Amino acid sequence: MSDAIKPSGSPHVLIVGGSLTGLTCALVLARHGIASTVIEQVAAANRSGGGLGVDRTLLRKVTGLDPFADSLVPELPVVLSYRESTSWLALHNWLRDNALQEQLITLTEGSQVTSVSSDDGAAYAYTLSGQTLTGDILIGCDGYRSLVRTVVNPNKPTAAYAGYMLWRGLVNERELPSDTPWADEEDSFGFIDRSGYRLIAYPVPGTDGSLRQGERQVSFAWYDMHRNDLLRDAGCISSDGVVLRTLTSPMISPAVRRELGLIAESNWPDPWRPLVLHAIKSDALFGTPIAEYDPPAVIRGRLAIAGDAAHVASPMTGRGFHTGVEDAAFVGESCRESLYRRGILDAAALLTYSGHRLPAAKTLASRSREASRQYLQIALKFLHRSEPCR
Ligand SMILES: Cc1cc2nc3c(=O)[nH]c(=O)nc-3n(C[C@H](O)[C@H](O)[C@H](O)COP(=O)(O)OP(=O)(O)OC[C@H]3O[C@@H](n4cnc5c(N)ncnc54)[C@H](O)[C@@H]3O)c2cc1C
Repeated sequence: MSDAIKPSGSPHVLIVGGSLTGLTCALVLARHGIASTVIEQVAAANRSGGGLGVDRTLLRKVTGLDPFADSLVPELPVVLSYRESTSWLALHNWLRDNALQEQLITLTEGSQVTSVSSDDGAAYAYTLSGQTLTGDILIGCDGYRSLVRTVVNPNKPTAAYAGYMLWRGLVNERELPSDTPWADEEDSFGFIDRSGYRLIAYPVPGTDGSLRQGERQVSFAWYDMHRNDLLRDAGCISSDGVVLRTLTSPMISPAVRRELGLIAESNWPDPWRPLVLHAIKSDALFGTPIAEYDPPAVIRGRLAIAGDAAHVASPMTGRGFHTGVEDAAFVGESCRESLYRRGILDAAALLTYSGHRLPAAKTLASRSREASRQYLQIALKFLHRSEPCR
């Protein structure tokens, strides 16, 4: 390992994946005075995402940073309904901007990790460009198709298709005709079950953080169990049920769009219908096969997995990111405790993490299976009433 790069001296953690969980982990470690290097394959400029619920109080408690107040980094904007909703990009930018302010965090974007390993002395990440990075421990925050998981759980490396997908979109209210009925405070969260489909829709802040009606974005997720053949033919799921990729907008044929338009016209009420129809006609629509993963383990040697790498759940649980934040809190706490008691960061430091987070990941997996079972039961009643396009 003579060419290994380690930012020398004090304890150092490698984090693979610089999305929501990876950045939260790095911020928590920095709070405990522990340095980390985050390795993210996607360049910052190429980021996008939908909407999600966020708990700013939990974020403040775990990271020690205040999402309610402008400081060096602008506050995290949310639309309030029965919960706080924001866009993935606003949340990612808030975490990333805070990480960039932190001297203990090295953020490397546009660099792909191709393999990881660990031995008695250190954990290693090997990148596509030929670098070897060394840390005391390594946390895989690399999402539902985690590479680190394949080493932590070689006998169960992949997340399984849950039997249904989401049509998703994020639409700017300002792109819509002026007679569009905006979601107001009473109806700012839509949860509608019709004809075996389910729609969950809600406003999130505009791209500039605006919270005013007409200047926000609206996020929707439309659950659909009729598209297994389409997903298989498009290479989004494998024949043995592994989720491989998202269905991007160019992959959605005019015939499928026409059929989705008809379903939307007859099933989704205002204020959501015009927004969904707009997404169908534009490039704002994409498809996400739902994956689930119940981990046999969350650590191996000096390697651990956290966030979606450890527990992929249906968005119906509304807990994926939330559970990733809790994972990050325990990564930080386990490292802090090990350094305080034993003065080192090694495989034993991860035992506390595993003791707390393996049961939590399994609970989330079981909630997800139950939510999927309930939805599929409702949807199956309608399965033979229509012949969907492929
Ligand atoms: C429609 C929808 C709604 C949701 N709503 C909620 C909600 O209301 N509340 C909630 O708590 N959760 C919600 N979730 C779940 C939540 O979005 C996810 O749990 C969360 O985004 C996962 O973040 P992550 O950082 O663990 O994984 P990811 O976001 O998948 O990040 C993994 C990162 O690792 C990088 N990466 C992967 N492999 C490599 C590699 N080899 N080298 C370098 N980098 C790599 C990827 O580029 C990516 O940036 C929702 C999900 C969906 C789809």
